[in-house]
Amino acid sequence: MNDFIYEVPVERVSAYRDQRLIVRARESAALTTTLADADPERIVGARLLSLAADSEPLNAWAPGLPVDLVMADPGAEFPLLYRHTELLDHHPVRVIIPVRPGFAKAVKVAVSLHFAVWLEPGQPEPALIEELVEVMAFYLRQPTVAQPVEFFHSALLGFYHDDPAPLWVVLDADPQYLRFIADDGAESLPGRLAGVEATVAADADLGEWLTRILAAADECRGCEFLGSCGGYFKWPRRDYDCAGVKRLFGLLRDAAAELRRDLNSAPA
Ligand code: SF4
Repeated sequence: MNDFIYEVPVERVSAYRDQRLIVRARESAALTTTLADADPERIVGARLLSLAADSEPLNAWAPGLPVDLVMADPGAEFPLLYRHTELLDHHPVRVIIPVRPGFAKAVKVAVSLHFAVWLEPGQPEPALIEELVEVMAFYLRQPTVAQPVEFFHSALLGFYHDDPAPLWVVLDADPQYLRFIADDGAESLPGRLAGVEATVAADADLGEWLTRILAAADECRGCEFLGSCGGYFKWPRRDYDCAGVKRLFGLLRDAAAELRRDLNSAPA
């Protein structure tokens, strides 16, 4: 047996009973019913794909299991977050928010309700870079923000400790460990790597993936943010212009330096 974690639709759990699973469903009752007999050691997370769903069945189920609430249209769906706050009494909960116009409002509501936020940044165009800068300023400067907003949070810590982790790891898309099972049962690499033919050995580590596949663009090899990014933004379109995302990484690097200065100058 390999060490992959499989993200599977709830309808296909039976085919992966011996694997470690992240299970997704549109209805929470489908999760609790299907997984009632599952080995709890093998379930590492659950994803609720519809914010319109009733999450109440998850409250008393598998306490402590990480739960993701997946948004499709953040500009329209953010009011639905209010109905899921009770989950926080029972589970670590992240709201997965795609970076689409209007996503900033969804981030602010999620954070105000004490949800962790996990941005799916795609390959943001200039207008979305501006919205990302606005959200980053909110995350960095707003004293009431107590929850992590990824990928900002991990990138900031990486700069602060001079120990960066590539976005493949931060944003749950590490091909060394993860596989995605589509609704029709097709297996693929995770996230934006779906459809990419893997030409590395099944047991290749992330370093080999980065060198041979993920960060193979010429621009990545010379990029000052390679350690924090890992070539993430060159997928799936290899001709994506990284000027905007390099600005984001630069702002996080500056914020980490400022934080270090502030802490060093604070009285002992
Ligand atoms: S910011 Fe762009 S150029 Fe730099 S490592 Fe990431 S994808 Fe490559």
